[in-house]
Amino acid sequence: MKCPYCSHPESKVIDSRDSETGETIRRRRQCESCLKRFTTYERVEYVPLYIVKKEGQREEFDRSKILKGLVIASKKCSIAPSQLEALIDDLENELRTSGRLEIPSREIGEMVMERLKPLSDVAYVRFASVYRSFQDVDQLRKTIEELAHQRAPKRRSRKVVSEVSGNIAFSEGEEPAETQ
Ligand SMILES: [Zn+2]
Repeated sequence: MKCPYCSHPESKVIDSRDSETGETIRRRRQCESCLKRFTTYERVEYVPLYIVKKEGQREEFDRSKILKGLVIASKKCSIAPSQLEALIDDLENELRTSGRLEIPSREIGEMVMERLKPLSDVAYVRFASVYRSFQDVDQLRKTIEELAHQRAPKRRSRKVVSEVSGNIAFSEGEEPAETQ
């Protein structure tokens, strides 16, 4: 930070405090050359992040929407709420550090699935059924088979099929649909 009086590039911080709202940090500095004092403010830059939906509309990235979908997909699975929060933190961090301002919703769905897969097969398949908008049972079966193939023992796939069937409904919409 250049000194506003003499343009010297080095200064030392002599006092630092948060603003009342905690959104900015005020720093009192002293120029190392002319010794005059000046103040700087530091704040987090707000960068909007947009999800581009299939039909092309933009929507601001909304953690709570993704969380809602995950909660529905992981119903009765042994995933702790903190694991879902951590999943979204990780996702948001990757999106925000990518420097991209617009991300297709499909890509976000795939990123969620990639992170959901190690946590629960059932939740993964339920979530996949919504984000990949399965048109028919064959597509659903294909996803379960792919999953089972990666997991080796064959018994596993039957378990997933029986746990998943009856819990999902095919939906054209963005929100996971349920049947009970
Ligand atoms: Zn100076």
